[in-house]
Amino acid sequence: MNNMWKTIEDNLSEMIELRRHFHQYPELSFEEVETPRMIARYLQNLGIETRTEVGGRGVVGVIKGDQPGKTVALRADFDALPLQDEKEVDYKSKIDGKMHACGHDAHTAILLTVAKALQEHKSQLSGNVVLIHQFAEELVPGGAKAMIEDGCLDGVDAIFGTHLWTPIPVGKATFHSQAIMAAADRFEIDIVGKGGHGAAPQDTIDPIVLGVNYVQMLQQIVSRTINPQEAAVITVGTFHSGDAFNIIPSKTSIAGTVRTFNKDVQAGIQKKMKQLLHSLCENAGAEYDFRYVTGYPPVVNHKEETKLAEKCAEEILGEDQCFRTEPLMVGEDFAYYLQKVPGTFFLTGAGNPEKAADYPHHHPNFDIDESSMLHAAKILASCAWNYLDSNK
Ligand code: MN
Repeated sequence: MNNMWKTIEDNLSEMIELRRHFHQYPELSFEEVETPRMIARYLQNLGIETRTEVGGRGVVGVIKGDQPGKTVALRADFDALPLQDEKEVDYKSKIDGKMHACGHDAHTAILLTVAKALQEHKSQLSGNVVLIHQFAEELVPGGAKAMIEDGCLDGVDAIFGTHLWTPIPVGKATFHSQAIMAAADRFEIDIVGKGGHGAAPQDTIDPIVLGVNYVQMLQQIVSRTINPQEAAVITVGTFHSGDAFNIIPSKTSIAGTVRTFNKDVQAGIQKKMKQLLHSLCENAGAEYDFRYVTGYPPVVNHKEETKLAEKCAEEILGEDQCFRTEPLMVGEDFAYYLQKVPGTFFLTGAGNPEKAADYPHHHPNFDIDESSMLHAAKILASCAWNYLDSNK
């Protein structure tokens, strides 16, 4: 194990170089071409059996240990975001309007380095390690589902993954033995009334007043119909209506997101939202269109694998640097892997104000403390190694 950590340490500068390369050439979800090509080339150069175009644009490598044993998977995502990079660093994005603002560039470099270390020590490896390089995490329906359907989890006994996280200081890591991330759904609503003169409301059906009422009604779904022990969020993110001060428009469009952890709560919110809209519009004689798009399911970790990952992290970062924390309301398609095989998804601290790495994810100034990559790589490599070692 210590030899493997040493390989990772010795490759830190290459890992940073890889990350900075991906950072400069970001590719959006479902448009990745050069990134998977480079990943495949790197793995093949290591002598790792590699399959490309998995589920579309994914890359899967398999490290075969010389000793018999189980099969464990590690996953990293590689897509970027439609955002302008506003950092002033020499590795800033060279592509206008595209940016790695979530750390997936680093996830990729980390997994490539882990692959190198595991491959180098495969003579003592008891079993196989499947390297899942996933495309399109940021955009529903995501890449995970398609890669699973294309067999990336076939024969896999457990899976581990991590997300670098700037709200957590570098040197720390957090673990969750159950749900770590929420189901993230999207809704889009049109309320179609009857437009007319601003001076003659009696001849109109005002969709602005209806829309405002509806947004108010939404506030009571979580507070009045959901068990207070359950977590749920309904957020309206856009509200568009009207073009002139003296005209009652004919339509209001509203869009937003729903975040939940429990399937019944999720279904209940969707149903209630539609009921409220229906009764509101029926009363007023307005028409409506209700579109609810179910996103990724919640990311639900498994106990045993979480314990194993936490133990690995404690060995690397120190016991006092590893925590159990509250789940986050963000979404992740790592959820799909965990529906198929046991495993865990944890957060590796990457925040450091001294290195301007204290912006939130998806921010135009987002950056990480790159030493977090060393932590994540060592923990992931240990997870794979220890899982196989304890199950041989
Ligand atoms: Mn992400």
